[in-house]
Amino acid sequence: MIREHCGIFGIAENPNAANNTYLGLYALQHRGEESAGIAVAHNGEIKLYKGLGLVADVFNIKKTDKISGASAIGHVRYSTAGNTTLSNAQPIIAHYKNQTFAIAHNGNIVNAHILKKQLIRQGIKFETTSDSEVFLKLLIKNLKYGFEEAVKKSAEIIKGAFSIIILTNKGEIAAIKDPNGFRPLCLGKIEKNYILASETCALDINGAEFIKELDPGEIVIIRNDKIKSIKNKKDKRSFCIFEYIYFARPDSIMFNKTVYKVRKNFGKKLAAESSAKADMVIPLPDSGNYAALGYSQATGIPFELGIIKNQYIGRTFIQPEQIIREIGVKIKLNPVKEILKNKNIVIVDDSIVRGSTIKMIAKILRKTGIQKIHLKIASPAHKYPCPYGIDFSDKKELFAADKTVEEMKDIFKVDSLSYLSISGLLEATGIRKPEIFFCKACFDGVYPVDFDINADKNFCV
Ligand code: SF4
Repeated sequence: MIREHCGIFGIAENPNAANNTYLGLYALQHRGEESAGIAVAHNGEIKLYKGLGLVADVFNIKKTDKISGASAIGHVRYSTAGNTTLSNAQPIIAHYKNQTFAIAHNGNIVNAHILKKQLIRQGIKFETTSDSEVFLKLLIKNLKYGFEEAVKKSAEIIKGAFSIIILTNKGEIAAIKDPNGFRPLCLGKIEKNYILASETCALDINGAEFIKELDPGEIVIIRNDKIKSIKNKKDKRSFCIFEYIYFARPDSIMFNKTVYKVRKNFGKKLAAESSAKADMVIPLPDSGNYAALGYSQATGIPFELGIIKNQYIGRTFIQPEQIIREIGVKIKLNPVKEILKNKNIVIVDDSIVRGSTIKMIAKILRKTGIQKIHLKIASPAHKYPCPYGIDFSDKKELFAADKTVEEMKDIFKVDSLSYLSISGLLEATGIRKPEIFFCKACFDGVYPVDFDINADKNFCV
């Protein structure tokens, strides 16, 4: 369901660049399971390796070990149904005279459909349906101003959510964060070499030291072991709060907060806002694990793993086809009947988007002879679509969009249903002045950047 899901990685001037990128993508696998790609600059050329599937389906260490080149970028991607083509897999490359550029992008450029029409009118041809290619073609068009200026000018024209890493055939790397800083992108260092990644877990796996999260509107240009930071246009910060709720890996650190701890705090806050009498707290694994732990610790109600997840199946949340998601729930989650029988339970999950997983699991739980089910959601009701590169782009698909809590409770056939409040969610992040830090538009409909609701929905990451 979520088409934001992309992970990006870049490393400059390191003899193990392809191996480092492979490891980085492995750590970022949760951000996209449909394709993986690595572009490497070597001897004045860019070589591209990509394929559909998981990182392990496309690469292995024997393969990356043989890839020469000191600078590399990588990408893991999630796409919408019908768009899982190799041409849309990233990185994508473009040539201009004797130069070649590769880009890896996470997010959604909301004015890409307008820019694409303009570029087509100017005779520019496109090979993919991806908005990332629009940026790449803009970059090529602006190269007459020189690489650095072209990056800057192109970043000023595009709107929306974008964290982008660019590789040149000379081995330079540029990274761009959009003016609102929607998507994460952090900078680290392995000895003298700079490294960029969507999340710190991709730095950790490479033994890199974390330096900083790029600022909204910041551009960095890395040449050899030198880095230059350019502060481009900056807007009100609107970091996607869903990174803390669901997207990011729990061991990643974002804005000095470990995602694990923030998720636990959501559970603690939820417990303070809506208590329930129960024999145990169980998570909907794995997404509800951390909030359920927090809920249990705050209330003193014992934590149990009452539902077991089959670890050999992908995330149902981000699989595009509804049919796959529904079958996936049955294959993926199974209750431990003996510990649940005759018990009153609090079941915690991080969010409800389409509601299909919760509906199915509540039905399955009832069959175990459970007494009462209190469903607790560690984020607010998800009522509005996301235009910034997340695949909840259609309001009709959002379960809570047109229902009251009471109506949802009846549909799920649970004894009670509670959501974390928006103010509770913000406070639990521990971020100072959270109301001016986060995008939370999918909960309150207040969109930080204007967008065209009728824009082509296939036109995304
Ligand atoms: S609308 Fe929601 S999912 Fe989209 S960027 Fe904002 S907080 Fe994130």
